[in-house]
Amino acid sequence: MSRVYNFSAGPAVLPEEVLKEAAEEMLDYRGCGMSVMEMSHRSGMFETIINEAEEDLRDLLQIPENYKVLFLQGGASQQFAMIPMNLMKNREADYIVTGQWAKKAWQEAQKYGKANKIASSEDKTFSYIPDCSDLDISPNADYVYICENNTIYGTKFRELPNTKGKTLVADVSSCFLSEPVDVSKYGVLYGGVQKNIGPAGMVISIIREDLITGDVLEGTPTMLNFKTHADAGSLYNTPNSYCIYMCGKVFKWLKNMGGLSVMKERNEKKAALLYDFLDKSHLFKGTVVPKDRSLMNVPFVTGNPELDAKFVKEAKEAGLENLKGHRSVGGMRASIYNAMPVEGVEALVAFMKKFEKENV
Ligand SMILES: *Cc1c(COP(=O)(O)O)cnc(C)c1O
Repeated sequence: MSRVYNFSAGPAVLPEEVLKEAAEEMLDYRGCGMSVMEMSHRSGMFETIINEAEEDLRDLLQIPENYKVLFLQGGASQQFAMIPMNLMKNREADYIVTGQWAKKAWQEAQKYGKANKIASSEDKTFSYIPDCSDLDISPNADYVYICENNTIYGTKFRELPNTKGKTLVADVSSCFLSEPVDVSKYGVLYGGVQKNIGPAGMVISIIREDLITGDVLEGTPTMLNFKTHADAGSLYNTPNSYCIYMCGKVFKWLKNMGGLSVMKERNEKKAALLYDFLDKSHLFKGTVVPKDRSLMNVPFVTGNPELDAKFVKEAKEAGLENLKGHRSVGGMRASIYNAMPVEGVEALVAFMKKFEKENV
């Protein structure tokens, strides 16, 4: 068996230890004679799995008592609707548009109320984070929305916006659990797990309890009401049970690694390897304003689309997979999530050096 270094933006690399453990438990989970996939979500065995997953996540992120953790389906994209449906009491919200995902969320919110775009970085193809220290926050806004790490463009909010007392809602899909976070600064933070946590098919939403009122916009389906899932402990209907189990394993893996401050150090080290090389390279260059660079998604180009394609092809032959940039931007993108080992980034940089020598 030979595994490649997988730089996919999502679904993405998972820790090898976790995959091995899951493989060992596939046919017979801890002596119960069946796989977690075949198990009732109402069984005692599964109750332990979901409870431990929540506890470990709470531990890792130091989630305050007054926040609920929901394991939901529909991906991060479903939250684009679920958030206005549950939070837009005044039918108004402010959006900071720093990439395609934030833009989609902003467009979706317009179906439910007045969604103001109060800042954007679209003028420079989303290559930076706008100054959000003194924005024109709307007096009636129910919340201020950001996408904290922009998966496609490789930018990250290093500082949260000044929301002037308004509830902050953040899509953290591609930076979830990559570093410690002060949850109390957010009203809602949520992320699709297929970027930095587990298999595709689930979103985790962490919501301050006072925002879960059940008083939702008229016509909101039961399944899209936060309260439905909060009251039922994410077991209103059949959840993505196997995904919860896999995420639970990743949470334990993260705890064993030393938790989120250790992950942050590790992620900074990995990102520095790549950015330092990009800054010196005569062939490759990063596409993002240095101060706003993401630790997770690193886009870069040669400036020549043919050379980019050659790079992606030859990298694949060398066991470095999924380096093609998002179809909307081109070039390359290396996603170096928690589960990407330092050795993977070292191998990438070594390959880039070799390619540069051969092609400059
Ligand atoms: C991938 C991604 C999404 C979309 O996730 P789905 O689970 O496919 O809906 C939304 N936001 C961000 C930041 C992402 O990276």
